[in-house]
Amino acid sequence: MDDPSSTDATRPDGGVLLVVATPIGNLGDISPRAARALADADLVLAEDTRHTARLLAHLGVTTPTQSFHDHNEARRVDAVLARLAAGETVALVSDAGTPLVSDPGYLLVRAAREAGFRVSPLPGPSAILAALSVAGLPSARFVFEGFLPARDGARGSRLAELAREPRTMVFYEAPHRITTTLAAMCEHLGPERPACIARELTKVHETVVTATLGQLAALAAADADMRRGELVVVVGGAPAVEAEVDDRTLSVLLDALPPAEAARVAARLTGAARKAIYRRALELTGRVEGPQES
Ligand code: SAM
Repeated sequence: MDDPSSTDATRPDGGVLLVVATPIGNLGDISPRAARALADADLVLAEDTRHTARLLAHLGVTTPTQSFHDHNEARRVDAVLARLAAGETVALVSDAGTPLVSDPGYLLVRAAREAGFRVSPLPGPSAILAALSVAGLPSARFVFEGFLPARDGARGSRLAELAREPRTMVFYEAPHRITTTLAAMCEHLGPERPACIARELTKVHETVVTATLGQLAALAAADADMRRGELVVVVGGAPAVEAEVDDRTLSVLLDALPPAEAARVAARLTGAARKAIYRRALELTGRVEGPQES
């Protein structure tokens, strides 16, 4: 087994910042290692201390907690570094899933690393991977887009930027915005795109629906349950568009260049397949017969 004490920390006698993933709904998903780390830590930094208190009570853990959220993160960093300097073990958790994933913590992790402390992850649940793992969409490569902007204009611009994205896309969304978001996705990505809504994952009302964006938009508009709870939207990437060279462009090149050279230049300009262009160049110059018109 690997030695878990191996580290790139430059202050090996200093404290440790543990970034601890917690369940996204089902408390049974806490890992034994995460539970032990929370019990053994000197301090648990929690996005919402009342929320985390429920998890700690479930685990029978009595470690003191301190609030650490978007609005106080920058102010709290120095105090946490001081505790690490005193040799303490500090565990960072968020309300659900993996800290730093659409959650606070990045300023602290960066500061702790820069100060030479060991920062170690206790990996576990995250809604991104939970949704991706059941969406049935290509998953070898994907992009996480977090929450789309709430304002119509900014959301439309972001989706327009993503219209040609070939990888599967994962979005977080608030339930009260899901119908507007799906409508905007239909407008900018097209209603035929395969997609998935994964809601309330690991909880009692877990629902995973896979359909086209258009069908999901209609479903969310018709079924109030689809507008409740926590949800992730997974959208298939844009289908590959085969580049082509139109006959007019190719003819202009053929006026100045031999077919092989014209095909090479056209392929470089457009990204289309050189062989196919060359074949068409031969047809246009009458060196081989082209397709017969019926
Ligand atoms: N850090 C968390 C993680 O690792 O997934 C995400 C925190 S982000 C503030 C909260 C968003 O995650 C929700 O709005 C929802 O989009 C998604 N989410 C969290 N729990 C979920 C669940 N059980 N089912 C579906 N989506 C969930």
